[in-house]
Amino acid sequence: MSIREIITVPHPTLRRKARPVTRFDESLQTLIDDMVETMRDAPGVGLAAPQVNVPLRVIVVEYGDDEEAPPKLYVVVNPEITRHTQETEVGVEGCLSIPGLLGDVERFSRITVRGQSRRGQPMKLKLSGWTARIFQHEIDHLNGVLFTDKALSIYKADAVPEDTQVA
Ligand SMILES: [Zn+2]
Repeated sequence: MSIREIITVPHPTLRRKARPVTRFDESLQTLIDDMVETMRDAPGVGLAAPQVNVPLRVIVVEYGDDEEAPPKLYVVVNPEITRHTQETEVGVEGCLSIPGLLGDVERFSRITVRGQSRRGQPMKLKLSGWTARIFQHEIDHLNGVLFTDKALSIYKADAVPEDTQVA
């Protein structure tokens, strides 16, 4: 495994629509292992393949809404939001690809995500809370969308506050 460079705005890959994964080969496994290591090193709670300059539909998320339990690692290939509540919540987001900025972003409170595992097995996840927020942030990355496009307000952060998650 190795840590890859996280690209930042205005790198053009961040604005491209990523391609679906069709081959679940060794290079995909290496990409996923590297993404997990890069996310943990950053540190961040999520990472999308375009953020390491690979325009493929792959995301990794590591977060636990339950503070008592260890964070849970999710790897999802070709993720899609297939259902969501009408209810939304506003929360503070930051992005590893947009250093120094935070924003208040409105996201669906609960979502259903369908996709595939790293080996190509179909999977379905029902998510809520911050985990649902992080997934929406990462899936936006696959469509070339950044949180600053959606934020209700954006502000400078010299240092990211301790309770803020970046992805
Ligand atoms: Zn991001």
